[in-house]
Amino acid sequence: MENFTYSRATSLSDATTQAVSDQNSMFIAGGTNVVDRLKVFLDQPSQLIDISRLQMQDIELMADGSLRLGALVSNTAVADNSHIRHNYPMLARAILSGASQQIRNMATVGGNLLQRTRCPYYYDTAFPCNKRISGTGCPAVTGVNRNHAILGASEECVAVHPSDMCVALAALDAVVEVASPQGQRQIPFTEFHRLPENTPEKDTNLAPGELITAVILPPLSWGKSGVYLKLRDRASYSFALISVAAAINLLGESQSNTIQSVRLAMGGVAHKPWRATAAEEFLIGKSANRETFTEAAEIALQGANPLTHNGYKVELAKRAIRRALTVSAQGGGVV
Ligand code: SF4
Repeated sequence: MENFTYSRATSLSDATTQAVSDQNSMFIAGGTNVVDRLKVFLDQPSQLIDISRLQMQDIELMADGSLRLGALVSNTAVADNSHIRHNYPMLARAILSGASQQIRNMATVGGNLLQRTRCPYYYDTAFPCNKRISGTGCPAVTGVNRNHAILGASEECVAVHPSDMCVALAALDAVVEVASPQGQRQIPFTEFHRLPENTPEKDTNLAPGELITAVILPPLSWGKSGVYLKLRDRASYSFALISVAAAINLLGESQSNTIQSVRLAMGGVAHKPWRATAAEEFLIGKSANRETFTEAAEIALQGANPLTHNGYKVELAKRAIRRALTVSAQGGGVV
């Protein structure tokens, strides 16, 4: 770990002003990914700005029915919140499927969005890596790439985003609220993270010095049908090979089998949480049955471009989508 100076931000304005004045600084809150990266020289900031005491630790139900999650709310507090468990169960289940209880107690909403890929080449500084040092190459393209991307990748980087929570947030049409010395702005969740293209060193569309202050969940009256299915190599403390966040709203009365609205997103497939909008559009107005879900899964995986060792992900993702949609159409619950 390289030496750095440490400062504790006294206000939001103090935090963002410090960050803008030293663009080699980093924010730290829970530190569950940042400290790992510091220890192996992936990040070498001149300054750490501790934001953990700022007042961004509330979950608030807003007048319009949306739910505002402060950036410093712990992952545990989000997953345990009764409003979230009842109205956005896919989010609670996504969080509980990730990491360990101890890490979830420390990890924050904002930090979860900013965690970086767990591509092993990125963490091993004996290898080149375009995400670590631009222009050095991507050994994963021809190397061990069993866990890497099948959608939206580039020759520059085939990493996947590691978060479970972010897959649910993409499906829920969340909005990210950010602040800088210039003021506040909101970023639709699906536009917050980036695909690698030729700038894999950039994971998000945050401007230098911008700080996440909250994530806003719009009201979703039928969100209780939401499910999160995570498939991985072992039953706990493992990143997703494939994950699916899905919610279905059937038309009118409970006997109806027609899909009125649907949300579908995937994890473990791309550099960002992958919202399957074409499959969603296909599903609207269709009958909720195995054939429909199978066709939707085919559409969701159109354009998949697997690497040498991860072709299995294409079929696994299709089956996971069909399973998640089936359980959601039956009212939701544990997949
Ligand atoms: Fe680096 Fe991305 Fe290639 Fe992994 S996939 S080695 S993070 S450039």
